Amino acid sequence: MTRRNPEIARDPDKAKRAASHPKRPGEQCKAAPGTWVPRVDRGRCEGKKDCAEVCPYDVFEIRRIDDADFAALGPLAKLKSMVHGRITAYTPGEADCRSCGLCVVACPEKAITLVRV
Ligand code: SF4
Ligand code: SF4
Repeated sequence: MTRRNPEIARDPDKAKRAASHPKRPGEQCKAAPGTWVPRVDRGRCEGKKDCAEVCPYDVFEIRRIDDADFAALGPLAKLKSMVHGRITAYTPGEADCRSCGLCVVACPEKAITLVRV
């Protein structure tokens, strides 16, 4: 299957480090698909791609922020977004999330939380 961001390879070492993180939340990949979903705080996300590098289920897409999402940011977050090329993480594959929690602890900006739906 083609990955959403084929230019972003999975990083097994990073995923391994995230897997052993003491604060890893979620259900260790045992949740039924889509019972938990990742929520990205756009004011924090800097498009650093770690989430896409560790997610086993290709949930994330790293791309330019939508105009409406950019408009909803506060002034400081807008500035930060511009500094980072307006790149952010979206979650088009969230229905496949199994709540492994890897993205949450891998994100350097602490921009992701797992939410039960
Ligand atoms: S959510 Fe975190 S890990 Fe994912 S792109 Fe944004 S800053 Fe990077
Ligand atoms: S918690 Fe969900 S979105 Fe995050 S890495 Fe695991 S499967 Fe992917």
